[in-house]
Amino acid sequence: MSDPCPFCGHQQMDSKQVEYIHRSGEQLMVVTEVPCLECEFCGERYFEAKVLKRIEADFEAIQSGARKPVKTIQAPVEAYSSL
Ligand SMILES: [Zn+2]
Repeated sequence: MSDPCPFCGHQQMDSKQVEYIHRSGEQLMVVTEVPCLECEFCGERYFEAKVLKRIEADFEAIQSGARKPVKTIQAPVEAYSSL
């Protein structure tokens, strides 16, 4: 069906749609339904360069105010050592 996993060499990579978190400094953007290939064996995910570029362009459009996101969420931040 596709190329073997570049990480573990397993032959089967599944086409999936997953949640991807783009991060730039302290700015995060969650993107849902992102197409990727996921290794059945080791779980590594591979995103095509054009997919990542599109996410990056969208992130910049949102940062500059040219585009509004579908929704905005707040995320708490914790240090494990302070738990
Ligand atoms: Zn693998």
